[in-house]
Amino acid sequence: MSTSSLFRLNLRRLILLLAIFGVVVTLLNVLLASYKVQKELLIENTLESNRVYSAKIATNIEDFLLAARQQIQYSAKLTTNHIEDESWLDGEVQRLAQQTRSYNSVVIVNANSRVLAASPETLQLKGKIIEAKGSDEALAVKKPIISQPFLSPKGNFIISISHPIFSSTGDYLGFVSGAIYLCQDSILKQLVDEHDYKDGSYLYVVDQNKHLLHHKNPERIGEVVPNNPAINAVIQGETGSSRIVNSKGIEMLAGYAPVMSTGWGIVVQRPEQEVMILLEERMQAVLQYTLPYTLGTFFLIWLFARVISKPLWQMANNAKKVNLQEAKSGIVRIKAWYFEAAQLKESLQEGISLVQQQINRLHQDALTDPMTLLYNRRGMQKQISQCQGVCDQISVIALDIDHFKRINDSYGHDIGDRVIQTIASVMKSCSREHDIVCRSGGEEFILLLPNTQTETALQLAELIRGRVENTNLADIKHKITISCGVAYWQKRAGETVEQVIKLADIALYTAKREGRNRVVQQEGATDSVP
Ligand code: GH3
Ligand code: MG
Ligand code: MG
Repeated sequence: MSTSSLFRLNLRRLILLLAIFGVVVTLLNVLLASYKVQKELLIENTLESNRVYSAKIATNIEDFLLAARQQIQYSAKLTTNHIEDESWLDGEVQRLAQQTRSYNSVVIVNANSRVLAASPETLQLKGKIIEAKGSDEALAVKKPIISQPFLSPKGNFIISISHPIFSSTGDYLGFVSGAIYLCQDSILKQLVDEHDYKDGSYLYVVDQNKHLLHHKNPERIGEVVPNNPAINAVIQGETGSSRIVNSKGIEMLAGYAPVMSTGWGIVVQRPEQEVMILLEERMQAVLQYTLPYTLGTFFLIWLFARVISKPLWQMANNAKKVNLQEAKSGIVRIKAWYFEAAQLKESLQEGISLVQQQINRLHQDALTDPMTLLYNRRGMQKQISQCQGVCDQISVIALDIDHFKRINDSYGHDIGDRVIQTIASVMKSCSREHDIVCRSGGEEFILLLPNTQTETALQLAELIRGRVENTNLADIKHKITISCGVAYWQKRAGETVEQVIKLADIALYTAKREGRNRVVQQEGATDSVP
């Protein structure tokens, strides 16, 4: 098979191409739609779970802070009656620090900023004037407060929860304060560190002023995050979720919820890239599931394309055959199992039959004289060559109308034609079925009598001559007569039929010479009769 025929478009390849194109486009559509739906779903789910988780952590922190404040408040209330009792104060700060485990450190400070008791003792704050943002704030407002994050005298980044101490007469005596270290192990860290970071998500806590109170990267604690949409929303007290670009320019799926009592915000966020990795995995799984079905579909399409195109392909192949008979028998065998193919098959068969008929007719026309419908010279040649093969002997009668020129001259050419036709029909009616009657030219005829001896030929010639003589034609006063020459051919004599026809002609001329309207046998012809 040549390269050009290998890649030539045919119906099967076209159907195949069309179907494969359809399947591929459909598959791509399905994958694309599935990709979009999965992506939306994953993003929605991530946003929602981040929102729910941030709300849960916010509630946990809220509960913790409430408990922590109550503990400090209770302690402040007890301290009112023991502000002068140094050992009681030492015991109280230890109890608070160790019993509750809410605080990393606890201090009791009097109204003059002097530390009356402190736990753990390693801080060595007792008796010292405390100078820290949280303490100044507590002394100034004389109210229960949760401070902004600040740097403690010992260099810890902390927030403090403090409650004022008032005497029974209402005098301000100082405050009790518990500190939570933001950068170290603390209850706050424990609360938020429950979060599982495996899926790439992480959680952070900000205060009202956008300071990071907790972050997976401890170095960032205390940092102000100015342009984070989630932080901006959460410090306004909003709970929700959104796709954001964080301060590092990374696209994030963030859920957020506020801690109402402090104005802090909890943000849980997951890089969108992580979701995309998950999406890719899912899409690979979808592709894996789809691939066998797609390949199966391709195979079925190939099979169908083959079955559909087969009859048309067979018809096309047969139609280009030069041998009509071969083409016809090829087409008959085709299984045209659907309407169009069946119609085409029928039309092709009809077409081939018509062409065959036409060719046969043309063939016949080429061998026949149109005026008399007898064989012409070509037809005669063909018959002779066929006869020579199968016959051992042939008698030949050469026949010519006498004085035909006169008839033409007297009655015109049309009447002359009618005379020729009449002679032809007389010859036909007198001859046998297997005899070959030919118009060899003008008003001359040849009658070939296969397997016939001279005697019979002479009788037949005489019969024709007599019939013609006795035929009266309308509009013609002249008697029409013919002259005949008879010759005999025998296979073993070594002569050709054509040579014997010439001998018959010679006999015919003899007949003319001897007065016409007669049959003359070729001289010596009977000698050769066995
Ligand atoms: P002879 O007895 O010697 O055969 O005389 P003839 O007149 O028949 O012979 P000749 O060969 O001289 O004339 C034959 C004529 O036949 C000449 C020609 O015009 C005429 N002829 C030949 N073919 C046709 C034809 O198809 N139709 C008509 N009407 N005449 C034809
Ligand atoms: Mg003649
Ligand atoms: Mg003549």
